[in-house]
Formats: sequence, structure tokens, C-alpha cells
Amino acid sequence: MAIEKPQWKELFSEVVTSGLCTGCAACVVACPHDVLDYETANGVYKPWHLDIDGGRDNCTHGETGCTLCTRACPRFRNWESEIDTHKFARERTDDEVYGIGDVLLAKSTDESILDNGQDGGVVSTLLIYALENDIIDAALVSGLEGDGTTWRAEPRVATTRQDVLDTAKSRYTYSANLLAYPKAVEGGAERIALVGMGCMASAPGVMQSRKAGKIARRLGFTIGLLCSKTFDDAIFEELFEAKYNIKRADIKKMNIKGVFQIWTNDGEFHEVPLKEAHAFTREGCTHCPDFAAEHADISTGGIGAFGDWTLVIVRTDKGRELMNALKEKGLIETRPGDDDPGAVALLHKLAQLSRKRWPVEANPGPRRIPVTSN
Ligand SMILES: Cc1cc2nc3c(=O)[nH]c(=O)nc-3n(C[C@H](O)[C@H](O)[C@H](O)COP(=O)(O)OP(=O)(O)OC[C@H]3O[C@@H](n4cnc5c(N)ncnc54)[C@H](O)[C@@H]3O)c2cc1C
Ligand code: SF4
Ligand code: SF4
Repeated sequence: MAIEKPQWKELFSEVVTSGLCTGCAACVVACPHDVLDYETANGVYKPWHLDIDGGRDNCTHGETGCTLCTRACPRFRNWESEIDTHKFARERTDDEVYGIGDVLLAKSTDESILDNGQDGGVVSTLLIYALENDIIDAALVSGLEGDGTTWRAEPRVATTRQDVLDTAKSRYTYSANLLAYPKAVEGGAERIALVGMGCMASAPGVMQSRKAGKIARRLGFTIGLLCSKTFDDAIFEELFEAKYNIKRADIKKMNIKGVFQIWTNDGEFHEVPLKEAHAFTREGCTHCPDFAAEHADISTGGIGAFGDWTLVIVRTDKGRELMNALKEKGLIETRPGDDDPGAVALLHKLAQLSRKRWPVEANPGPRRIPVTSN
């Protein structure tokens, strides 16, 4: 019989230790008793429960009725159809393998944002517009620690155009941006946008559908990043440096377009085959079924024939309003997704591939859509 008030005890056994946990940190920031912490050392990105309060696998607050961690977890039980139904008022059809939404291509018309962004600078343009037009108070994004030369990603709060520009582009190691939530709230933010890969982008939706309180209300807008994996930090020394003599501190920009593309400060360009990088896949990604950040308001990616454009999936009315506003104000240029049928086909294929990773023995939600063998 299903437990009526599932708490950390159930989260620990059904998600954290079963391999489904992505390390998104939603449970950590939702916990009102501060008994959950987050491990980032040695490539481990997992929540853990303070021993003083119920031990590793149980929670005394859970025993007396607290369920906030399970209400915040976007991998707990029937998360996918719960969020679909809450966000889109229906479940997806079998054809909607990358989730519900319309595909288009977009890029910033501001050259400084475009040059500074990973692809078309659409995420930066959205955030800057929303901050400067009183739509949000803050955004949870990812920056690099220190002067950036270590390439260690860290969660950050952006409240200004400069913060957004300083934290643009992609890092391919994990950054649990939700961990910046307490800092945003301390700074007085009530309307907070979240930027994150699918694992994080499903958190606001699940919090809202399971009524997880203030945090669910504050995280009112989500920008997703398409993603098939992130890598352990060890990839820098053990692959890039050991085999290709590329040191962290010398890296200027990275991208993944079929291969790992690495630009270095000396003006050189390097390519590292993705198959060599797979050994460094972060554990939390191995069972992740969500390539397309299916529960974001707007999802963004870099696949396609047009290098300096962002592929955008507009999923909700909120997302549509914001994209329309950017277009009307001339802040972005757009073209239909049909201009790049190869990108849409690849999106479909990569979304299918990710869905196959959800374990058959787990809740059947994400495998409900038939997955083909190729
Ligand atoms: C780990 C990762 C894997 C990705 N994999 C794919 C892929 O397989 N296929 C694909 O098409 N697109 C992928 N993307 C998305 C792509 O790289 C771009 O982020 C997207 O196209 C938006 O580009 P932009 O120029 O509009 O964004 P920008 O304006 O450059 O803004 C990027 C935003 O992403 C945030 N960010 C950067 N790194 C991280 C991180 N590690 N964790 C959380 N937030 C971060 C930044 O803080 C910034 O807010 C991936 C992104 C990441 C971070
Ligand atoms: S998936 Fe996220 S919310 Fe769920 S247990 Fe792991 S870190 Fe917590
Ligand atoms: S594959 Fe991407 S979206 Fe999925 S768990 Fe890993 S980082 Fe998150």
C-alpha cells in the first residue's frame, strides 16, 4: 500500500540510493528544517541527511508529517505525468517525445550578447529583459568559481545585466543552480527564474503540482537547457590534460557539437571525440530520461545547422509571452523550426535515446511513450 505521507525515508530508498537521483538539489532547498545537505566533493552530486536527525536514511521531521523533500523531487514516483498535467493541463501524446511545445530558432540582435552567449544568446536575452522589465527579481544561474581558470561551475544569483553576461555560455560539469535559491531570497527576491538542465527544470513544476509552499510560488519561470549528460570534474586532468595537453586554466570556451570543441586562450581550437569523454559521465545522468528539459517554460539548445542560433522550444503561455515580447522589441530575430528539419529530427532522436535510460523496473512514467530501438 502506498505510504500517504512519503518523506525522506521513501525518497532515500526510492530515488537517492536507487540510481534515479540526478543531484538537482531540489529536496535540499525545499527542506524547511535544514537537515539535508549536498555533497559535491569527488564528483558526487547527491543530497544527504544529517545523522543527528533520524540518521542517514530516515528523518524525525518526516516521522511527524513533513513531506517537503518528496514534494520537491522531480524523480519521485509519477513525476512526469504529474508535472505534464499540472503545467500543460494534459499528458503528452506519443508523438511528443521531447515534451509539449513548439520549436523555433532564435538569436539575440545585440552583438555583445550574441558574442558572449553559447549559441544565439537567447537565454541571456530572456534574463536581461525579464530583470530590466520588472518581470523577475533574480535568476538562478551558473558561474565559474574565482577568476574562472579552474572551470569549476558554481550556482549563482543574477540580478543585473552584468551578472547575466558574466555567467553566460555552457559549462559541461554539473551546477545545481537551485542551491543559489536561499541567497536569492536573502537578497529579497520573490519572483525568481531558474536556468537549468532538464533534471533541475522539472523541479519548479513538481513543487507547484505538489504544493510545496513558498518555494513553488517563487520559482515562477524556468529556462531549460537541452542536455544528454554532464561530466565529472576529473575530465579536465584525466582526459583533456593527460591526452591532449589542454590545461584547465588555458581553456577559453567549450561546446559540444558531435565532438567536444575546446577553444584555448592562445587562439588554438581542439576537438576531443565524445566517445573518449563518455567514461567521465556523471553518475546522476546515467538514468536520466529527459534530453529536452521537458518541463521548462522555454527550453534551449545548440543543435542544428545554424551555429550562432539557439534552438528554442516554447512550451507555456508564459514562455510564449516572453518570446513574443523580445521579438516585438527587436531584441531577438527568429525563424521557424522548419528551416532546419535536421535539427528537429536530431532533437527527436536524442530525446528518444535519453528516454531509454529510465530503468524498466522504476515507475513506468517516462517510458510510457513507446521507444524505438534506433
Ligand atoms: C551541461 C550542458 C549540456 C548541454 N547539452 C546540450 C546538448 O546536448 N544539445 C544541445 O543542443 N544543447 C545542449 N546544451 C545547451 C546549450 O549549450 C546552450 O546552453 C543553449 O543552447 C543556450 O544557449 P544560449 O546562447 O541561448 O545561452 P547563454 O545566453 O549562453 O546562457 C546560458 C545559460 O546557461 C547557464 N549554464 C551554463 N552552464 C550551466 C551548467 N553547467 N548548469 C546549469 N546552468 C548552466 C548559464 O549560467 C546561462 O544562464 C547544454 C548545456 C549545458 C549547460
Ligand atoms: S533527484 Fe533532486 S530532489 Fe530528488 S532526491 Fe535527488 S537531489 Fe533530491
Ligand atoms: S543528463 Fe542532463 S538533465 Fe539529465 S541528469 Fe544529467 S545533467 Fe541533468
